[in-house]
Amino acid sequence: MAVPKVWTPEWNDWCPGCGNFGIINAEQQALSELGLTPEDVVVVSGIGCSGKTPHFFRLPISGVHTLHGRALTFAIGIKLSNPELTVIVNGGDGDQLGIGAGHFVNAGRRNVDMLVILHDNGVYGLTKGQAAPTLRRGEKTKSLPRPNINDNVNPIALAISSGYTFVARSYAYDVKHLKEMIKAGIKHKGLALIDVLQPCPTYNDIHTKEYYDKRVYKLDTEPGWDPIVRKPEEEGEKMAKAMLKSLEWGERIPIGLFYQNELVPSYEERIAGNAPSYKDRNPSKIRIEDGGKYT
Ligand code: SF4
Repeated sequence: MAVPKVWTPEWNDWCPGCGNFGIINAEQQALSELGLTPEDVVVVSGIGCSGKTPHFFRLPISGVHTLHGRALTFAIGIKLSNPELTVIVNGGDGDQLGIGAGHFVNAGRRNVDMLVILHDNGVYGLTKGQAAPTLRRGEKTKSLPRPNINDNVNPIALAISSGYTFVARSYAYDVKHLKEMIKAGIKHKGLALIDVLQPCPTYNDIHTKEYYDKRVYKLDTEPGWDPIVRKPEEEGEKMAKAMLKSLEWGERIPIGLFYQNELVPSYEERIAGNAPSYKDRNPSKIRIEDGGKYT
């Protein structure tokens, strides 16, 4: 990827040791290894520490820093306007599963061909560490006066039940694994989620690098683990297995691919099925084997 000489990335003010560094490094490596050029890619973010991701790229991609919880809506508009683009959403669990939860769910119903990277740290880091949606009930991070009294959102189960067709988890300190997940998520046809376990060393003193290092294990080392739907009749069983696996949390925490189903038409294909002119304008990214079938 040729970098224009005029490109000057912004000064990065994430805290030392933040898991966001692993995420942005893996994201850039994935884009480079896929041979995507800057004009191919748009990175969209909301509000929070993760919202600064487009500013901190060392590659001159296009970025849009949007409103709190609304990154997905901007991203869908961008993607539908130009399906040739690779569109990636970066957002925290507060941004995407708190104020943005409605958009997170309804994006799944549409299965737009994009990648969502969830910076999952359990806290609102930008505003001094309040409990965010993935913090579990009974957990007390250092900013909380008392243990959290709310139950947590399970991003994997929520995404699968909402219609996401690629659902994976990775770990911000395993950059190689995360890079491979991002590449697979970009190549997937349909809406992809990667739930990234992202230590926030400043405000989350429970889910630290030391905590995750000894717990995470890779799903592809599990004998018989096969999360890919190859026939329509496999869908329900593979969804159920993935959701059951997403409940595993404690001494062992699985990372890797939980569920993938490319048999579901993307939203772009559904539109093209109803409006052939949409396909004519965007021929290379829309595969319609049976035009007009998708309603
Ligand atoms: Fe990272 Fe937490 Fe600092 Fe935000 S507050 S930059 S999430 S370490």
